[in-house]
Amino acid sequence: MDRRVEQQLGSHPCDACGADTYEANLSCHACGHGWEACAVSGYPVHPSERVAPKGGLAARRDDWNAWVGAFGTDPVTGLAATPLY
Ligand SMILES: [Zn+2]
Repeated sequence: MDRRVEQQLGSHPCDACGADTYEANLSCHACGHGWEACAVSGYPVHPSERVAPKGGLAARRDDWNAWVGAFGTDPVTGLAATPLY
């Protein structure tokens, strides 16, 4: 074991209060601000990275495009899908 390696939880900054909260939290532990869950990864979707197919659930741009690049389908409906930007 290398004791210099510290285990750390990833974090993301809250859009509302700026606090760092756990990267997978769908609501801020400090102020309660909430995010939509990504249709691909389940991680919180920040407004700056939000994409959504017509009539579909929101997703994080990078997660959506990685999924569609690999499978060519909407992860929710299974229908053919294209990258979103
Ligand atoms: Zn907050």
